[in-house]
Amino acid sequence: MGFAWQYEFWPTVAAFEAHLAQHDPRICAWVEGIVYHHTAIPTLAQWRGRASMDGLARYYRDEAPWTDAQGRQRKGWSAAPHLFVAPEGIYQGTPLDVPGIHALGANANRWGLEVVGDYTRVRWADTLAELALGAGAALLRWRGIAPSRQTVQGHSDYNKPTCPGKAIDLAWVAAEVARRAGTVPSEVLTLAPAPAQQPITQDSLIVHAPRAAAGNLLRTILRRPTGHYTPEDVSYIVRRYETVCLAADVDPLIAVAQMVHETGNLTSAWSQRPHRNPAGLGVTGAPGKGLSFARWDDAIDAHVGRLLAYAVVPSQATPAQQRLVERALSYRSLPAPFLGSAPSLRGLTSRWATDAVEPHDPLTYAEKLARTANALREAA
Ligand SMILES: [Zn+2]
Repeated sequence: MGFAWQYEFWPTVAAFEAHLAQHDPRICAWVEGIVYHHTAIPTLAQWRGRASMDGLARYYRDEAPWTDAQGRQRKGWSAAPHLFVAPEGIYQGTPLDVPGIHALGANANRWGLEVVGDYTRVRWADTLAELALGAGAALLRWRGIAPSRQTVQGHSDYNKPTCPGKAIDLAWVAAEVARRAGTVPSEVLTLAPAPAQQPITQDSLIVHAPRAAAGNLLRTILRRPTGHYTPEDVSYIVRRYETVCLAADVDPLIAVAQMVHETGNLTSAWSQRPHRNPAGLGVTGAPGKGLSFARWDDAIDAHVGRLLAYAVVPSQATPAQQRLVERALSYRSLPAPFLGSAPSLRGLTSRWATDAVEPHDPLTYAEKLARTANALREAA
């Protein structure tokens, strides 16, 4: 797995806010709050700005130990904390739209914010406090999360009692973040509860309003190996699926579930570069036979458009759907009797070309897609 790190620097909270304003907060749908940390080492006296950031990147990538999904001890993290706040400004390590690694139990749904220095005995100086609190407020306001003691936490709320430092009062931090975000702190988690979900079955429609947020799907996919694709790669792919699906009224959950099913969570040889084949398109089992795509944008158009060709009777397609189907079928045609033959998943069984016979798994193709879709959504 790659290492999710993308150096950026903003000298002020206002510059950081301007950066956030350029991005759709839905790319961070997986985030429910912030965890504050301190670096302890480097101390403020040891801090050298960009050079220290490069040093931290090497440390996390090469030396920091972690435990993988199989419980094996590994060296080197796949990601790191998101922000590092120093007196001169706000640095980014792991991109804000990718889950980081910073606090066991919080990585899947919280940004990690490191305050540079050791706060075992001293509190943040005023300039540093303005940046650390302002960055937290900017993040929560942008993401639409109400600051509270539940959404503004410290590493000591998880597994490290000494972080972000005994001198830092987390109730004060939460209240100050709330004041800067322009809201009063609430004692309850104000995230809207997830609406009751109908399970996906083989009778679920393919053309349908989204049944899951792309950020949640991304989170689940990133919990498992993704071949040579980095979290940034996977984030790009899943977000692109969402964009293409929404423009054509396809439920992104269905298309992404089919991609995950067909590619083994992006680990299959056909899904890797240079093929980028997202759904066994044209893969017949004959040696070397299958479609390769130069860019994931093309691959996703070809996949979603082909799925749509099965789902919609041509005479009932919207103009946007017609364009996507036409584009997809230019990569590989679809026999006329298949057009509109699968408004729900059920119709794909024994029609989607790559439906493999798996003696150990008696479910039909449609049932397998439904199972994958439910697992993707529920694990999130
Ligand atoms: Zn920490």
